[in-house]
Amino acid sequence: MVVGGGWGGLSAARHLRALAPELEVVLLERNPSFFSMPLSNKWLAGLVDEKLLTHDYRAAARAYGYAFLQAEATAIDRDARRVHTAAGTLDYDWLVLAVGIRHDYAAWFGDDGRAADAARQRFFCAYTPGGEFRALKAKLDAFKGGDLVMTIPPPPFRCQPAPYERALVIAHLFKTRAVPGRLTLLDPNPPPQRFADVFEEQYKDQVTVLPHARIKSVDPFAKTLSTEFDDLRFDDALLMPPQQAGDLAWQAGLIGRDAQGKPTGWAAQDPLHLNAAGDERVFLVGDLIDRASSLFGHYPKSGHLAARLGRIAAQEIAARSRGQAPETLLPESSCFVTARLSPQESLRIGTHYRIRGDGMIVQTTKQDADFNPRGEDVDWAKGMFAELFG
Ligand SMILES: Cc1cc2nc3c(=O)[nH]c(=O)nc-3n(C[C@H](O)[C@H](O)[C@H](O)COP(=O)(O)OP(=O)(O)OC[C@H]3O[C@@H](n4cnc5c(N)ncnc54)[C@H](O)[C@@H]3O)c2cc1C
Repeated sequence: MVVGGGWGGLSAARHLRALAPELEVVLLERNPSFFSMPLSNKWLAGLVDEKLLTHDYRAAARAYGYAFLQAEATAIDRDARRVHTAAGTLDYDWLVLAVGIRHDYAAWFGDDGRAADAARQRFFCAYTPGGEFRALKAKLDAFKGGDLVMTIPPPPFRCQPAPYERALVIAHLFKTRAVPGRLTLLDPNPPPQRFADVFEEQYKDQVTVLPHARIKSVDPFAKTLSTEFDDLRFDDALLMPPQQAGDLAWQAGLIGRDAQGKPTGWAAQDPLHLNAAGDERVFLVGDLIDRASSLFGHYPKSGHLAARLGRIAAQEIAARSRGQAPETLLPESSCFVTARLSPQESLRIGTHYRIRGDGMIVQTTKQDADFNPRGEDVDWAKGMFAELFG
C-alpha cells in the first residue's frame, strides 16, 4: 500500500506495479486530483497553463494497473500492519509512506489553536498540494496594493529556491500591473545572490529582503510580526512556519531523535534501503525523510528526488517480497529555477550521489545558469508527468 499520491507516492505505485506484478498495489490519497507544485510559480505569473499541472489519479491508476482510493488516512497501526482511513481500514504487507510535509504552526503559536487556524486560513502559504494554490492566485490577482509579507522557514524545507522564485513572480506582477505593493521577504538566512542581484536591478520598488530575520512572534489578528531586529505590520501575507514530516509520520511513531533525544521533526530511515528505522515493512519516500548523510544532511526536498526515492522503494519491496537481497541504489535530483523573468533566465541545479568507501553517501551539486532558456523546465515536467501518469 502507498499512502500519499505526490511525486514520491505516484512513482512508488507505478514502479511497484511494474516490478512486482504479483503484489496488489493500492494508492491512497486525500485529494481528488494532482496539482504540480513544480512550475506553479510560473503558473501564478500566467506563464504556463493550468492543464499542464493538473492530472487525474484515476487515469494514472488505470494506465499502470494499480488501485486508487481517494480517502484521508487517519492512523497507521504498525503492529497490526493496518491503515485506518476515512473510508475503512486496509491491511498491508508493505507500506510506502509518502505524505510529504506539514507546517509547524506550534513553533510560533504554541498550543494557541485559534491563532494557528487564523494564520493557516488567512495567510496560507500554498506549499502543500490542495486548494491553496488557486486561492493564492486569486489573492494575488485581487491584490490592490499595500504591504505583503512572506516568511521563509529555517532549513531544511521543501524546494529551497521556490520562495525566491515566487517572490520574483510577485514582484513581476506588481511591476507589470502597476500595483502599488511592496513585498517584504523575511529570511533566517542570507538571500541567494542571484535573486538579490535581480531584485536590486529590477524590483527595487517592489521587494525588500530582510536577511537573518528569525520570526519571534506573529499576531495574525493584528497583522503584525516581530523578529530580533524589526516589528512589522502587514496588509496581507504568505506565512510559512518551520516545516516537518507530515502528520502520519508523527502518529505512526516514525520521527527521528537527535543526540539529546529531542524529535528531529523528520522521519528516520535507513538511507541506503529507505525502510523506516526499526521497521522493515514501512518505506519512507519523499520530503518527509530525515537526514540522508552526516556529510550533507538532508537530500534536497524536490519532486524529482522524491520520484527517484519512490522508484528505489519499489525496487526494495519487489526484491524483499521475493526473499532476494535488494541492490543499493541512490537517487538524483534535477531542478529548474526561474531566476529572471524579463529577459528570462533560469538555473538548473543538479545533484548526484555516490557511496564512499566507509558507506557514507556523498553529494555533488552542479548549478548552471541559462541566459537563453527554451522551455527546458516544461520539457522536464512533461517527462516526469509521463513517468508518473502514463
Ligand atoms: C512552489 C513550489 C515549487 C517547487 N518547484 C519544484 C521544482 O521545480 N522541481 C522539483 O523537483 N521540486 C519542486 N518543488 C518540490 C516538490 O513539489 C516536492 O519536493 C514534492 O512534492 C515532494 O513529494 P512528496 O511525495 O514527498 O510530497 P507531496 O508532493 O506533498 O505529496 C504528499 C501527498 O500525500 C497526501 N497526503 C498527506 N497526508 C495524507 C493522508 N493522511 N491521507 C491521504 N493522503 C495524504 C497529500 O495530499 C499529497 O498529495 C516545489 C515545491 C513548491 C511548494
